[in-house]
Amino acid sequence: MRKPSFVGRISFALAARLRLRSLPARSGRGVLSVTFDDIPRSAWTSGGRILAQHDARATYYLSGDLCGRVLEGREHYRREDVKAMVAEGHEIGSHLFHHLSTLSLSAARIRREIVQNDQFLQEVTGLALGPQSFAYPYGEISIAAKWLCNHRFKSSRSVMAGLNSAGTDSDQLRILPIDNAFADPAGFVSILQTAAQNSAWVIALAHGVDDTGHPYSCPPRAAGDPAIPGKGSRSGHPNRERSDERALGPAPVRGWSLMG
Ligand SMILES: [Zn+2]
Repeated sequence: MRKPSFVGRISFALAARLRLRSLPARSGRGVLSVTFDDIPRSAWTSGGRILAQHDARATYYLSGDLCGRVLEGREHYRREDVKAMVAEGHEIGSHLFHHLSTLSLSAARIRREIVQNDQFLQEVTGLALGPQSFAYPYGEISIAAKWLCNHRFKSSRSVMAGLNSAGTDSDQLRILPIDNAFADPAGFVSILQTAAQNSAWVIALAHGVDDTGHPYSCPPRAAGDPAIPGKGSRSGHPNRERSDERALGPAPVRGWSLMG
């Protein structure tokens, strides 16, 4: 991916300071959500199987243009995978129709990309309501994108590492990266413990789930590590707790709740 232009970098810096809404205070246990971007097919064929073993659900952020594509030797999701995700209660989020940095797009183009992806996902799933969650491609956020996503989605996720808690920008949620390129498996448990102690929300982000060592994949063992609480310890997605509106998927998204 090319580097953002000077104007793009200014827009990103200003967008990071533009606060339109924040997460409310919440009490109780911490929450862990699992999210996948793009997505390489292994995130479903392998990641989905691991999630099922834990009776857990994830959010899959999809770009319609990547459906059925093979990029750098990696097969991406198929239409039937999306139907299966929805049938099994996973949330489908938006990642623009074309996987493009919002820093390179006009406001009008971003709006068209959002609408085109809504239409694609609604056509594939057969559901009337479009996705309710968004992830910025490459984690790059323009001022226009932030404003548009604030009005269109319940939340938007960045690729900035950190915990989410009261006061976190809902249009720039933070992540715990678990792809090989960024992951620190030794630090996972302490991060989860910190989140549990502070009733924080951890949003894990990966792309593929395989043993290839690809920088944008996590190994299946890490994804299913017994250190992560499993079956029977799930809770509601913070977004869903504040709304009766249904996501694109038929069931609320459920992450693992953390022990602590
Ligand atoms: Zn992406």
